[in-house]
Amino acid sequence: MTTFCEYCDKFVNTHIKEYSDTIKVKGQDIEITAKGAYCNECGKRLFDRDLDNDALLMAYHKYREINGLLQPEEIKRIRTQYDLSQASFAKLLGFGEKTITRYEGGSLQDEAPNSLIFLMDNPANMIDMLNKYGEKRLTKDETDQALAKAKALMLSELSKYKITSIQFKDHYSIQPSMSQSNSEWRRTKVECYSR
Ligand SMILES: [Zn+2]
Repeated sequence: MTTFCEYCDKFVNTHIKEYSDTIKVKGQDIEITAKGAYCNECGKRLFDRDLDNDALLMAYHKYREINGLLQPEEIKRIRTQYDLSQASFAKLLGFGEKTITRYEGGSLQDEAPNSLIFLMDNPANMIDMLNKYGEKRLTKDETDQALAKAKALMLSELSKYKITSIQFKDHYSIQPSMSQSNSEWRRTKVECYSR
């Protein structure tokens, strides 16, 4: 393909090849190996919107990995387990309406929103969040639907420990349909959640 080469000062043909580079992400040096467009005449790497964007996303991915931040696909997994849209999840957490859309699209999140999203992976935290802010920030239907999903997830988590009943801070109780129980686990878990 042809593109303008600022070094040759004319339109030239380019070819694509891999390069290694260090990109600064929030002040941190991140090494990447990415594909770039090179001038066929002078051999220098030229600006290419798509390839350079891919390289930046790659650097963000690595930055998240190094710093223990959630990747976009993890954020999506946490959100969709409660059947929440990107806009609803963002509103529930008190973010701007487009924030989750941007994160899932590859934008780099800060530590504080990252921690909040991370905590929402635990259905017990999601239930607390929905009870406190659900109907203030979402519709009643959205809140009820997400609550039902969170409770179902909670039950499937608890069933791993054969727990038969849990009381949640006077809000409600849940009763899995299981007959066998392990009293040790049950006592521990109930104390843990009824604090
Ligand atoms: Zn050139």
